[in-house]
Amino acid sequence: MIQVDTEEERKEILKRYRRLLRQAKPFLKPGDAKEIKKAFNVSLEAHKDMRRKSGEPYIYHPLEVALVCVEEIGLGTTSIVSALLHDVVEDTDWELEDIEREFGYKVMTIIDGLTKISGVFDYGSSQQAENFRKMLLTLSDDVRVILIKLADRLNNMRTLQSMPRHKQLKISSETMYLYAPLAHRLGLYAIKSELEDLYLKYTEAETYQDIVNKIQQSKSLRNRFIRKFIQPIDEELKRQGFNYTIKGRPKSVYSIYSKMKKQGIPFDEVYDLFAIRIILNSAFENEKADCWQVYSVVTDFYQPNPDRLRDWISTPRSNGYESLHTTVMSNAGQWVEVQIRTTRMDEIAERGYAAHWKYKEKESKAPSGLDDWITQVRGLLESNEANAIEFMDDFRGNLFREEVFVFTPKGDLKVLPHGATALDFAFEIHTEVGARCIGAKVNQKLVPISHALKNGDQVEILTSGKQKPNEDWLNIVVTSRAKAKIKDALREEKKSSIVDGKEIVLRKLKQMKMPFNSETVEKLRAYYELKTANEFYYRVGRGIIDPTTIRSFKDFLEKQKKKQKAIQERVKDESTFTKEIKNIKGPEHDQLLIGEDMDVVDYILAKCCNPIPGDDVFGFVTVNEGIKIHRTSCPNAVELLSNHGNRVIKARWTSQKEIAFLAGLHIVGTDRVGLINDVTKVISNELKVNMRSITVDSDAGIFEGTIKLYVNSTSHLDKLMEDLGKVEGILQVSRFD
Ligand code: MN
Repeated sequence: MIQVDTEEERKEILKRYRRLLRQAKPFLKPGDAKEIKKAFNVSLEAHKDMRRKSGEPYIYHPLEVALVCVEEIGLGTTSIVSALLHDVVEDTDWELEDIEREFGYKVMTIIDGLTKISGVFDYGSSQQAENFRKMLLTLSDDVRVILIKLADRLNNMRTLQSMPRHKQLKISSETMYLYAPLAHRLGLYAIKSELEDLYLKYTEAETYQDIVNKIQQSKSLRNRFIRKFIQPIDEELKRQGFNYTIKGRPKSVYSIYSKMKKQGIPFDEVYDLFAIRIILNSAFENEKADCWQVYSVVTDFYQPNPDRLRDWISTPRSNGYESLHTTVMSNAGQWVEVQIRTTRMDEIAERGYAAHWKYKEKESKAPSGLDDWITQVRGLLESNEANAIEFMDDFRGNLFREEVFVFTPKGDLKVLPHGATALDFAFEIHTEVGARCIGAKVNQKLVPISHALKNGDQVEILTSGKQKPNEDWLNIVVTSRAKAKIKDALREEKKSSIVDGKEIVLRKLKQMKMPFNSETVEKLRAYYELKTANEFYYRVGRGIIDPTTIRSFKDFLEKQKKKQKAIQERVKDESTFTKEIKNIKGPEHDQLLIGEDMDVVDYILAKCCNPIPGDDVFGFVTVNEGIKIHRTSCPNAVELLSNHGNRVIKARWTSQKEIAFLAGLHIVGTDRVGLINDVTKVISNELKVNMRSITVDSDAGIFEGTIKLYVNSTSHLDKLMEDLGKVEGILQVSRFD
């Protein structure tokens, strides 16, 4: 039992609430504070009897989530209200209608979205993948759902300590799998780094602590190094009159960890443990020139590594990130990364999406990569019919891949995932351009559609009205968009081929004066040995099946009819039927019965006398070869019979009918061409079975037959029934007496 000081707790709750209000204040419009207060009170009341696993009052959680929304993502009142209420519907008696009545439609839809995606995602399970898909679907309603979800997850990760071990692992892995990449994609770098660090903390506690300690230990050394490194830059920037801040930031634990792991090096050998960041206070119109001026100053003092210049100012990353990165050689012989950006860029880099919108409203020109991304995800969700796991892999693939920047002939920039081909580019321009793409000119040079694009390529797509997407294209493209569009086109084309094929078949049948109905179509399908009628139409439509061969189908059908009639005629008469069976089966073999009980057992015929059916014979039990059958007139017979009498056994030939018994079978099925043929074939193939009579009745596609036959044993009968049951179209086989 936990002893709780309720008075203390009440004070703490109010303290946290006031902090939230204080942080939100700069963004609040008249009436907003009242709304937040109401949400707080509702949440407080609804969760009043609940506690977190840690024993703390539950209300701490929604309060903290709301605070993350304000402080770390920069969201406003609607989000604060939604964050405060985010667990109310799921965990208490409150319904969505109550939320809508009290807080309006918008808050209700956000809460609805949050409640829908509250499950835990397990990679590989389609149920969870489906949940994830649902989560992304909410993107098309309101991105705030995802952002609040991220805040929720961040708070859960921060308080993971009190969870049982297996939950820590599960929640951490899921965070690493899904939420960290999502935060990255939305440009929330600070949250992404913290999620990654927490993941490491809970999955590899020792490694994590070790790196944290080492960062701490090397701090004073690092600070001295940084001071020395920035001194000349600092002086020169001051001299030139820049307004700026400059700081040396250690990299995140996780990024140091992955560098150690990837390069297989100890902590001491990771050269870029920190980055120098220069943040300029520049007017919007001077941003670019100022950043490059600072770059020029930095590289005047230190030699840059030309391979490590990253210009995300001229072309921002698609998540909105803008910054100028260079790696230079320090006087101590160590590489140092220098990041140059403005206050506006820094805000976007740290706080991502919301900051991006805040600035977008202020400035006319703003990066639109993020909007593009959200539009893209929406489009994907609308057109995607693939299964959820496939979709999730596609999506994650897109999150992680690096990007290539390429240009249209008019110089418009397109950002594509790494590995994107000319065909991807074509689909990026327009679905029709993609579908008609036959090749491209990359930097004036002719290339095939599978050509992989590189940064800075200028791409002109060549099209032809005759071109059509085909299955191979799916292996050429990497973007989800192109894949979805190609799949759509293939489906469409299949549909239209089916329609074409149907028309051709209809025309052909008319010419041949045959009815166009399901029976005829079914027979055609069987004739061409295809699985479905649509498959048949498709092949005709695509010209894979030559329509003129349908004529030979008619001939085939007529032959079949004749044959069937003939069989049925013959079946009426028992003796002719037996002949029919003999025709198929060959001459009837007599059986050799051996021993006192006259059983059918295995034997071999002696080579000395070569007995044939009808001969007088006896069996002799040999040492190694089982029972050998000799003629009584065999030259060796006397010797065997007189000296080894105890090993001699009786044997005599008999005709099969003598030892078989009569059984009746009733079979029911759907009629089709050749069915009766198949049935008789099964019976004839079963050795030791002979048919006495068969009557069949076929009416409106239903086939009913009665077969009387001789079998040696019930096991033969069972086997036969089983085999008959396997004949295509047979639905039921039963025995009658
Ligand atoms: Mn929650």
